Amino acid sequence: MTDAEAGAHRGILLVISSPSGAGKTTLAHLLAEQEKLEFSVSYTTRGARAGERDGVDYKFVTEDEFSRMVERHEFAEWAVVHGARYGTAIHTVNRALEDGKDYLFDIDWQGGAQIRRQWPEESVLVFILPPSMAELERRLRRRATDAPEAIERRLVTATRELEHFADYDYLVVNDNLETALKELSSIYVAARCARARRGHYGHALLGEARTREPPQSQ
Ligand code: ADP
Ligand code: 5GP
Repeated sequence: MTDAEAGAHRGILLVISSPSGAGKTTLAHLLAEQEKLEFSVSYTTRGARAGERDGVDYKFVTEDEFSRMVERHEFAEWAVVHGARYGTAIHTVNRALEDGKDYLFDIDWQGGAQIRRQWPEESVLVFILPPSMAELERRLRRRATDAPEAIERRLVTATRELEHFADYDYLVVNDNLETALKELSSIYVAARCARARRGHYGHALLGEARTREPPQSQ
């Protein structure tokens, strides 16, 4: 009998990745709110953008603090993205697994691959695609949160990120935001209903049904 059949409920690790500007942060926050999902707040060495809050959008740390966390094996995964380091704390993943809480991870393909390798049963990987490269560039420029050189770097990195879409379980094209959110929440709801996670209900019900069965005459 598997853990799920025995009744153990381990949380879903819902990983969302995309090229910068495709809208994954927008979608991830909308999904977290709609589905009452916990959002995994990453550590990063990059500076806060205007409006970003420490401990809410990211935990902003120095290079030294990040290095110390790496040495103490405090990250479930970490990677260098656009020249800064980003990482997911191991305690966040442990909370998801031990308390059965579903968590949403807005992380890049390197992080997604590390999570998948360590927790293949619990992870569900979704890749957000922009409708076109021209629209991706427009969104990055319209967002205006990065300097022009940083935007150029994000566009170059977009190709590297896109190269990994085939490693993901699901692809969502973020053209119309409402449609993309509906698709994303459908993926999450379907994952919650997967037999691997719901099997214990079936087993409990079957056990109960059998106790109610009149004894079979041979
Ligand atoms: P990412 O986290 O992937 O870098 P963001 O969520 O920051 O992307 O979105 C990039 C920009 O595009 C933001 O200004 C956001 O408001 C905008 N945006 C997101 N989704 C859409 C959409 N479906 N249509 C138009 N603009 C969008
Ligand atoms: P941004 O600087 O635009 O917030 O994020 C840059 C990139 O870093 C995005 O692709 C985002 O998904 C990724 N990222 C954010 N947090 C983490 C993390 O903890 N681990 C990894 N591997 N990538 C992250």
